[in-house]
Amino acid sequence: MIIKKFIAITGIIHCEAGLRIGGTKEGIVEPGGSENTIIRHPITLLPYILGSSIKGKMRSLLESDASSGAQILDDGKPCKCGRCLVCKVFGSHGMSNKEITRILVRDCSITPESESVLRTAQEERGINFAEIKSENIINRKTGTAADKGLRTQERVPAGTEFNMNITIKLFKDDDEDNILKIVNKGIDLLQKDYLGSSGSRGYGKIKINNLEIREIN
Ligand SMILES: [Zn+2]
Repeated sequence: MIIKKFIAITGIIHCEAGLRIGGTKEGIVEPGGSENTIIRHPITLLPYILGSSIKGKMRSLLESDASSGAQILDDGKPCKCGRCLVCKVFGSHGMSNKEITRILVRDCSITPESESVLRTAQEERGINFAEIKSENIINRKTGTAADKGLRTQERVPAGTEFNMNITIKLFKDDDEDNILKIVNKGIDLLQKDYLGSSGSRGYGKIKINNLEIREIN
């Protein structure tokens, strides 16, 4: 496999709604804070978006798209045919027909502007770079919040922006047009669907601005 070129796809991910990509419970939980924390950088405590979250979501959306040729497996796991364009770009799971992953999605750091907004909010109002969202489960009989139905979750506030950075590695015999087309389709589907969790409850709506595709020299 001879590498032909690298292509960079960059953009700014704008959270149009609160975004929740979970961290671990061993992370920092402050008194009175949420148990369901977002993922944060261990040193700066700033939220970031995991590249693997974007990659996984793009892949599952593309596999569900009829034109991709991917096989939807009964166990819900990613396609492992090794022949379809999704396997070619995202790598194939399983032992047979191994494909080399052509897409690399970096973790997305918060933009300096958004960091400054969140820092100001932290200083002025003590918020920990995230909003705490409370949700109730409604008791069907009484129409009121169920006993112990209240749960709290952290979300990255709407309006926050992150730097998106994707690299496509192309090999000598690769069909460059179709590979770029499917990655672009994935980016498009991501904006129509949602990122992170609880999309059906309005979380995770994103828009990607300043999208740029260029060859890396
Ligand atoms: Zn496949």
